[in-house]
Amino acid sequence: MAREFEFEGFETKSIHAADPRSEAFGSLTVPLYMTSTYVFPDAETGGARFAGEEQGMIYSRIANPTVDVLEKAMAQLEGAEAGLAFGSGMGAISAVLIAMVKSGDHILCSDGLYGCTYGLLTMLKEKFGVEFDLVDMSDMERVRAMMRPQTKVVYVETPINPTLKVVDLQAVSEIAHAGGAQLVVDNTFMTPYLQQPLKHGADVVVHSATKYLGGHGDLIAGVAVGSKAFLDELRFSTLKDIGAVMAPMEAWLILRGLKTLSLRMERHCENAHKVYTYLANHPKVSKVYFPGAPDHPQQELIARQMRGSSGMIAFEVQTLEAGRTLMNSVRLAQLAVSLGEATTLIQHPASMTHAVVPADVRRDEMGIADGLVRLSVGLEHPDDIIADLEQALAKIPVQQPESAKVDTDPHTAA
Ligand SMILES: *Cc1c(COP(=O)(O)O)cnc(C)c1O
Repeated sequence: MAREFEFEGFETKSIHAADPRSEAFGSLTVPLYMTSTYVFPDAETGGARFAGEEQGMIYSRIANPTVDVLEKAMAQLEGAEAGLAFGSGMGAISAVLIAMVKSGDHILCSDGLYGCTYGLLTMLKEKFGVEFDLVDMSDMERVRAMMRPQTKVVYVETPINPTLKVVDLQAVSEIAHAGGAQLVVDNTFMTPYLQQPLKHGADVVVHSATKYLGGHGDLIAGVAVGSKAFLDELRFSTLKDIGAVMAPMEAWLILRGLKTLSLRMERHCENAHKVYTYLANHPKVSKVYFPGAPDHPQQELIARQMRGSSGMIAFEVQTLEAGRTLMNSVRLAQLAVSLGEATTLIQHPASMTHAVVPADVRRDEMGIADGLVRLSVGLEHPDDIIADLEQALAKIPVQQPESAKVDTDPHTAA
């Protein structure tokens, strides 16, 4: 279906990798195959497809022609042999991890993880005896020291959600491989336009396609890319038997989103730089985390590994109460979890995306302060995004009364 493509430019590939013109009336866009099953021409063919002796569709939990085009397009954009689509980012992450580990194994993770990934690892540990540790990956000696003979997977988010610390993928991959482990990277915050982890030694890349890849906040989906052998194994095990499959409509919408991915990412980066400069100079903002910051301590690594900052900024206001005032005062930015879409979104990790993480792990190991606010800078005019933050920050009292400074646990806070 998807053409084997001879042009190199990312922008060109993101538009033409999904070219279906070899069939379907020369339709310019990919046809939407809304079908659960496929009719076998005869019993012998059906048998041969089940036996893997003949190519061909069987049932849409295993493969679907529209989804197939997206899988191939994502593989081309990430520089992978193959791709596999899932019903959500968590569907992809759980299918990959469950396929890679068994009870008694160990997973070594970056010291910041998407909240539900942390939840999944906790479940694997409690129910199936798969151990995991978080480690500060800014120190490679520490990473090396935390590897165990049982470590099968090193799992990394970079930049780390929501503190936006950057992990050196090449260095981590060398340590992982020396210890016989595979490196899995969650590339959701970057997309293949800004970062291609396979080029820096990763074995598998996972995405929440819900975010920048879809880009319009209208779907939930996930993707994994890696070697064909590994993804074939997944297709017939943790994809087929657990069943977090992507629907063809979602694949169609993501293919549509991919055509503008490079344009959107450029503008997300540009807007985020402007918003960063504004926030970094605001007296009520105590800290700003942004990989595009000109004084970022990891600049050399960022230049080597990433093509841009993306649209994610995290910043701290003094207290949880101040954060709440800010979130209740924005008008253009929308108070919602998720990220990577046209609309600017704001949220509070301690009480929302990372509420599932125990408070001590969240603060001490992940570095998520209670007053940390996460902003997904959208595609609106940057002056309007800044004006909105300006009026909302103005609502925070300059001097917090002592009573409001109590370090309230968001789990119990009203
Ligand atoms: C959203 C997100 C996920 C989970 O993806 P879903 O599509 O919501 O299941 C995983 N990792 C990161 C970094 C995310 O932002």
